[in-house]
Amino acid sequence: MIRIEPEPWAVMVAHARRTYPNECCGAMLGAIDDGAKTVREAMPLENAFTGAQAARYELRPEDLLAADKAARERNLDLIGIYHSHPDCDAYFSTTDLRNSCPWYSFVVLSIRKGEFDHANSWLPNMDQTEAAKEELSY
Ligand SMILES: [Zn+2]
Repeated sequence: MIRIEPEPWAVMVAHARRTYPNECCGAMLGAIDDGAKTVREAMPLENAFTGAQAARYELRPEDLLAADKAARERNLDLIGIYHSHPDCDAYFSTTDLRNSCPWYSFVVLSIRKGEFDHANSWLPNMDQTEAAKEELSY
């Protein structure tokens, strides 16, 4: 299960609303204790996808490395990635699966007409063929 503290949650929702109708993406920094993940900080990153960003996001590897470094400087870990789905449910798409990593939680925020609607967290399997829903609280 993954719990997002109020401050990073507010950052994530604000980021998703700001980039609407395009997708936003970012890193979630936190701690894992006995399998329970807590997100303490959200780090908005740039959507580097060069095509239409309404249904696609791309993270630069160097931005992820910087997020990982920032996490360790704060004694935290990079535990997940978030992105938004403008006017679309918070499901995990085939593209999302293909671009995923099995060791992160993937939080998807559904934004409808510019407002937050709902969110889900996903855990891709090792082969990136499917993702299980993870219990999420915020
Ligand atoms: Zn997606």
